[in-house]
Amino acid sequence: MARQSASAPGAARPQEAEGRIRVLSDELANQIAAGAVVERPAAVVKELVENSLDAGATRVFVDIEDGGQALIRITDDGSGMSRQDAERAILRHATSKIRHVDDLFNITTLGFRGEALPSIASVSRMTLKTCEPGDIGGTEILIEGGRVLHVKDAGMPDGTIIEVRDLFYNTPARLKFLKTTPTETRHISESLLSLALSRYNIHLRLTHNGRQLFDLPANSSLGDRLLAVLGREVRQALFETADYPPIDGVRAHGYFSRPDVSQRGTQGYYIYVNGRFIKERTIHAAVKAAYRGMIDKSRYPTVVLFIDMPPDLVDVNVHPTKVEVRFRNTDAIFRAVYHAINDALQETPWVKDEVRTYKLTSEQQVGHRALGPEQATYEPLNARHTILAGPAAQSALALGAHRAPAEPLRIPMADLFGPPSPAPARPDAPAGRAAEVAARPAATPGRTIDIVDPEAEARARIVRAEAEGYFSRLHFIGQYKRNYLVCSDASGLVIVDQQAAHERITFENLKALYHASDHETQPLLFPLRINLDTLRAAAMEEFLDFFLELGFEIEPFGGNDYALKAVPAILTRARHEPLIKDALDDLSSVGRSDRIHEAVDAILLRMACHGSIRSGDDTGPEEATALFRQLDAIDFGSNCPHGRPVYFRLPLAELEAAFGR
Ligand code: ADP
Ligand code: MG
Repeated sequence: MARQSASAPGAARPQEAEGRIRVLSDELANQIAAGAVVERPAAVVKELVENSLDAGATRVFVDIEDGGQALIRITDDGSGMSRQDAERAILRHATSKIRHVDDLFNITTLGFRGEALPSIASVSRMTLKTCEPGDIGGTEILIEGGRVLHVKDAGMPDGTIIEVRDLFYNTPARLKFLKTTPTETRHISESLLSLALSRYNIHLRLTHNGRQLFDLPANSSLGDRLLAVLGREVRQALFETADYPPIDGVRAHGYFSRPDVSQRGTQGYYIYVNGRFIKERTIHAAVKAAYRGMIDKSRYPTVVLFIDMPPDLVDVNVHPTKVEVRFRNTDAIFRAVYHAINDALQETPWVKDEVRTYKLTSEQQVGHRALGPEQATYEPLNARHTILAGPAAQSALALGAHRAPAEPLRIPMADLFGPPSPAPARPDAPAGRAAEVAARPAATPGRTIDIVDPEAEARARIVRAEAEGYFSRLHFIGQYKRNYLVCSDASGLVIVDQQAAHERITFENLKALYHASDHETQPLLFPLRINLDTLRAAAMEEFLDFFLELGFEIEPFGGNDYALKAVPAILTRARHEPLIKDALDDLSSVGRSDRIHEAVDAILLRMACHGSIRSGDDTGPEEATALFRQLDAIDFGSNCPHGRPVYFRLPLAELEAAFGR
């Protein structure tokens, strides 16, 4: 031991003599910077298009090959560069956008760090062609892996053309991190579209391997651009924010979606601070707060928000790709965003006057807000799932209390509130039903699970073992509110949530389908034509196989349209269009096709929700028996996901106690 530790410093000694610290070559320094600035082709596109916009371009065309790895070509009609500037632009820390440190707090351009061109040039073969207006000829510079190979004259129109070939050819480790061509292409589409929304008057075009993915000629208003980028359906669901006066110099304006048009994640958040697309917590929190009580916790609206403020109130220099910013006054930001959305939202502009029958009553809002984090939430793709437990779970009468909305408005209200959650606790609820509670399936493999009571878990396991054929042995008494199947077992009342039961069954069947090789497919009488926005169309291209494997038949129908010709038989009654759109959102948030299997439960569970709109059906003893048999076939004890409780049990003893017997 002693000898080993003694020899270690000795071994290092020859190096010490030379000194161990080196100044990195420019080449290596640029490659390191490239790691942060351009981690994937989409980042190259973003940086280059931002440069074009900073150069005042009105037209920016992007052509890519093989997901951007083989080629990214950006053609703009911006200001161009002189030869001298062009040679400088590719040097590290060379920028025309700032001069002094004070300028950092007065930034009105998208770029300013002077890193993009040298970084990109160090990890690719890059040609920069540029011509200033008035110059007779332009300049062409060819750089390979950061080395300038030639500088020569180039005949070309005013503007700049940058070609980036063989991205990461000299950094094989980075190359390995690239995903499939469709995935990289989707990321490129996404970053271009978020730029497109910020500059509605710029003509943007994207082609991939010669095929046009989108072409967005200059629009005359943001509304028109929203239509072009997000599609008709989303556009119709968007409304202008309230014109709220600036708060401490901060003004937020834009569009927000009606609450029932929502997504699983924040992919519909297009948020710009002084024209820069960003992601920032305060703003996200303000959006969420503005929708509180109107949208389920696990769903997110679409918002296109422009937050303008004096540039010295925001530090944009906190992140290499500048998608994160820091605010001097987060409170003003929060309030500006909150009011712009909430004030307009309260007006429910989507409801025509004559049918303005369901504004949220304060009671409903209270009921919804009262849900604490300790209660069951419905967040299949999120990391946290909580088993329903504690007093909230223990009131038979309260369960589902704010679930069934008034009959004629059933569907819109259900949509408005998203998946139902358990009702708030009844203060006098009897205690001690933890076993049944924990017996409800709630765990997801590999995710955080809050098991509130480990002892109850153990007891639950026994309950599960005894539950063989449990549902089939129930005595069916009748149906309540066209959803709750009231039954009795040997020692109490059992209430089965018919819709939840169907969801669970559909989910289990879907899961089996996903793992099976042949499927029972139901052709649709009339193929359903589905119009997707550009992002979802990109996701469809990427994840088409996922649908095919489940037994969907989906064919491209030109542009962003797809024809749905057949569905898995168990989803025959589903609302197919929202089902597919939600699944696409889920799939894109999972991101990589090789990670789908990890998230597949969550995705399938959500499909199951769309596929089981059964509450409202009249159910008699025969239907109930059939349903119970299917429930018995499900392995409730397996690592079955999230979801809400399927049944509720009220032991006779407690019933009697309630009547003072
Ligand atoms: P930054 O954008 O942070 O200044 P870049 O490395 O992206 O740094 O670009 C360096 C400089 O090259 C810019 O400041 C700009 O003057 C010039 N430049 C880059 N792209 C273009 C373009 N498409 N048209 C005109 N000038 C450009
Ligand atoms: Mg730049």
